[in-house]
Amino acid sequence: FEDINDALEMYKGDWKKVTGLLGGKGANLARMCAIGITVPSGFTISTECCNKYLELENEFPEGMWDQAMVALKKVEKNTGKKIGDKKNPLLVSCRSGAAQSMPGMMDTVLNIGLNDETAKAMVELTNDERFVYDSYRRLVQGFGAIVLGIDDEKFEHPLGEYKKEKGFNFDNELKADNWKEVLELYNKVIMEEKGITFPQDPMEQIRMSIKAVFSSWNVPRAIQYRERTGIPHTLGTAVNLQTMVFGNMGEEHSGTGVAFTRNPSNGKKEIFGEFLFNAQGEDVVAGIRNALPISALNDKLPKCYEQFIQECAKLENYFKEMQDVEFTIEQDKLYFLQTRNAKRTAVSRFKTMFDMVEEGLIDKKTAIKRITSDDVDMMLHPQFDPNVLKTAQKQGKLFATGVAASPGAAVGKMYFSSKKCVEMAKEGPVIMCRPFTKPDDVDGMFASKGLFTAEGGATSHAAVVARQFGIPCVVGCNVQIDEEKKTVTINGITLHEGDWVSIDGTTGSIYSAKIPTIQVKLEEQKHFMSILQWCDEFCSKEGIRDIKNGPSRGLMVWANADTAEDATRARSFGAQGIGLCRTEHQFLGDRAGILREFILTEDKDKKKEALDKLEVLQTKDFEELFIAMTDLPVVVRLIDPPLHEFLPDLLELTREVYELRGKGEKNEEKELMLKKAEQMHESNPMLGLRGVRLSIVLRQLVAMQTTAITQGAINAKKKGFNPVPEIMIPLVGHPNELKEIQPEVEEVSTNLLKKNNVEIDIKIGTMIEIPRACLVAPQLTKYAKFFSFGTNDLTQMTFGYSRDDAESGFLLKYVEDDILPNNPFKSVDQIGVGRLIKMCVDEGRESQPMMDIGVCGEHGGDPKSIKFFSQAGLTYVSCSAYRVPVARLSACHAIL
Ligand code: ADP
Ligand code: MG
Repeated sequence: FEDINDALEMYKGDWKKVTGLLGGKGANLARMCAIGITVPSGFTISTECCNKYLELENEFPEGMWDQAMVALKKVEKNTGKKIGDKKNPLLVSCRSGAAQSMPGMMDTVLNIGLNDETAKAMVELTNDERFVYDSYRRLVQGFGAIVLGIDDEKFEHPLGEYKKEKGFNFDNELKADNWKEVLELYNKVIMEEKGITFPQDPMEQIRMSIKAVFSSWNVPRAIQYRERTGIPHTLGTAVNLQTMVFGNMGEEHSGTGVAFTRNPSNGKKEIFGEFLFNAQGEDVVAGIRNALPISALNDKLPKCYEQFIQECAKLENYFKEMQDVEFTIEQDKLYFLQTRNAKRTAVSRFKTMFDMVEEGLIDKKTAIKRITSDDVDMMLHPQFDPNVLKTAQKQGKLFATGVAASPGAAVGKMYFSSKKCVEMAKEGPVIMCRPFTKPDDVDGMFASKGLFTAEGGATSHAAVVARQFGIPCVVGCNVQIDEEKKTVTINGITLHEGDWVSIDGTTGSIYSAKIPTIQVKLEEQKHFMSILQWCDEFCSKEGIRDIKNGPSRGLMVWANADTAEDATRARSFGAQGIGLCRTEHQFLGDRAGILREFILTEDKDKKKEALDKLEVLQTKDFEELFIAMTDLPVVVRLIDPPLHEFLPDLLELTREVYELRGKGEKNEEKELMLKKAEQMHESNPMLGLRGVRLSIVLRQLVAMQTTAITQGAINAKKKGFNPVPEIMIPLVGHPNELKEIQPEVEEVSTNLLKKNNVEIDIKIGTMIEIPRACLVAPQLTKYAKFFSFGTNDLTQMTFGYSRDDAESGFLLKYVEDDILPNNPFKSVDQIGVGRLIKMCVDEGRESQPMMDIGVCGEHGGDPKSIKFFSQAGLTYVSCSAYRVPVARLSACHAIL
């Protein structure tokens, strides 16, 4: 194609397809040209060619080379330069670029076209010998490393030695003659390593570079990265051949930089970037020299800066998204070399999306679509416990500071290599410490809770990768790392491998201490809260819980919470109700004894006394819960777990009684307890006396619980709150079970309300956890005014897997060996369990169209499952408080 618009036309305006063909870099370079941004002349070889090349086992597909030559002629015409010309030579870069960005994973060769002859021509042209030989040695180094596959260290080492010998600290101190000498050293390296000389023919350089870039699609680190990020292996990379522009033409008027159009850490609307004078290519990203903040450009070249700011704004306006750009200034002339949608922290994502809606750049839908459940998750990143932190600071435990590159706090034992981090992560949390990171270090980064580096800036590899994956990270700490002795030193203090360190990626601090972490206060994040609010609005166009005209558009999100404290947190995260209050959680601790007394004693008075005690306690619990959730529904489940969970351990009790008997003592109470426990022992408690069966067997418990719930609601109402209690009967498989219990619940609560002269509508419903319940849904609706799927049990019973055992046993193997596509306890099995759910919803709604139907299992917080539940027509999902924000986003994604 001559022009990006031709390509777009051919693909009927589908940018995704065009990007798939040209790669992200190529497509965006072309788009920049189209909107009048200055980009060095060049052309793109498509991903199709790459795939064909790999398929042909490293042969160019037919016609490709000829077409490339035609394109190259055009570039020569555009620039007035010629490849290999002895007067005005054209130099190009050969850049990889896949459809989806894989930062730093693949290869790029710069300064192609230089050889002994053209170098001389360039010296004539530029009058700058230093610049030319610096560029030439970069070509030999890059070509050697990328095209010939020589370890980069083989070039870095002699350069380092050379600098030491000559007393140089930084690359930019080397003069022309120095670079000439280094070039000789590099030529030797190539001869020693590969037994060939560096190819002097520019066309040969181009040919070999294209091949190398194609092949770099399949280097192990690229494959690994794709595996981790779910990028398909079949995409292939495009190749961009582009006229070189030179940021290394002196200290005054040339340089290179990278920048974000907004702040990638906190989202503030300001250009955020780094710049290096007299530098080329990846000098900034690699952190070879410490780069200057972008404002340095304003100080030295204000006109260029001004133009840069304007073009950045133009890019944002065109892409309607925050950009991450690479640019170079050659002799006061600004060129853009790359632009792409910027990676950023979750905090930054929420702020930029919120702001762009306010600015009118995008609409709310677009903003929500761009936010992922991972972004929401990352907002839940831990922070240091402020008290312990203060102590650590007072004790002088601040070890080092650096650039705050990726927020969040992390604590762990420190190790110095990627391998060691991976290994030690199996033992406990680790923190990685490196001079700087390279793509090979990514494994270790993933295994670590956080990392810090000695070198590099906010756009270095370590920083970019850490931000993308939410790993707390501090870079550029200026510490001295001795990888051999495995120590890190600064200001005379030395830490050793395995020492505890705590890093704060939000402030850029490293502490030589073990500081525990706690969660962020989400409710204080304004942009986060607002965007989730928009999600809720999309889901319930007609207002919350108004299903008079049929169910709302999307799911509501409720929370599972047992106490007023849990409920308050859930509500602050945006829960619109409590979908599951597990009353048995109120029987823990001291109260377990009272319940046990109730179960074990034969004495009627004692039984009653125990029950009365529980009633008082539960009434108070419910009252507090209803007050915390005033105006919103609270579904309270009657006692559910297998009874033995409240009894003493049978084995232990037996031993105790026999010991006593051996001593000739007989403890009446213990004897009785044992007798009862033996009676109640079950071989399969999960399939035994639990759920509604318990209520049927222990009748008094139902009345007590109903009384406590109703009285709690009455008390709350009398205090001026608006309680909305609902009572849920668990584990029903046969309608007769409901027929047995539901009227009693209703009677007890109605009488109590009447007696108190209070009106509260208390709905009674059932939990659907047994496959049979799904099969007889219409019959259940006679007694149940709502359904709530307990998908954990429903999955367990539908598959016939004991969930407590399966997840640590055979299930892992099943998933590994692809016998199951995924763990059905994590993401709901749509085909099997899902079919039961759908049947139950459809047939249940047939007899009760307005019925609330929810989900209160773990699946209620899983994005994939949420999408399914939304499509199945449920009213709400209920999940743990910390999953509520993710669920709100997922519920909205499901309908956008
Ligand atoms: P990556 O995808 O790893 O960022 P790039 O292809 O963008 O690789 O190139 C690496 C570096 O070289 C970048 O800093 C880029 O700006 C620079 N670069 C690439 N092509 C040119 C060129 N034609 N002129 C000047 N600098 C270039
Ligand atoms: Mg780049």
